[in-house]
Amino acid sequence: MPARRVNPNKVKTHYSYTASELADCLGVHKNTVRNWQRQGLEPNDDCRPYLFQGAVVRSFLKSRRASRKRTCPDGTLFCVSCREPRKPADGMLDYLPVRETSGNLRGICEVCDSIMHRSIREAEIAVKMPGCDVKFQEAPSSLSGRASPSLNCDLKKEG
Ligand SMILES: [Zn+2]
Repeated sequence: MPARRVNPNKVKTHYSYTASELADCLGVHKNTVRNWQRQGLEPNDDCRPYLFQGAVVRSFLKSRRASRKRTCPDGTLFCVSCREPRKPADGMLDYLPVRETSGNLRGICEVCDSIMHRSIREAEIAVKMPGCDVKFQEAPSSLSGRASPSLNCDLKKEG
């Protein structure tokens, strides 16, 4: 089952929840709340049952969501091997258009030599990848410029 998306705004900020109340409120399993606690969600105090202040829960969930959706800083692509944003080796990048206005950047991780990809809008390349040497590749589906040999065949009209 895919992880359910939790809506932090369901938590009332001025209310303290037990773990099971919190789980009910957010529609998650009680073990999920325990996981959050391990990941840094602080109860009000050490008295059991633990009570969680709504405002604390909310900011915990929001910061967690923000950190998961991390974007690469300018000038980097995300390297799957390093699990870190990395600069492309020698600043060399290929741009492969996917749509008219956007496509994928491809570069080599300067640390581990893995191929890295990053989707980007064509108009943003100069801003997001300052100082990089970006080579624009032709879209593989583009057939423009290829002469069609069959065009010349039917010029001879039969009498
Ligand atoms: Zn790497």
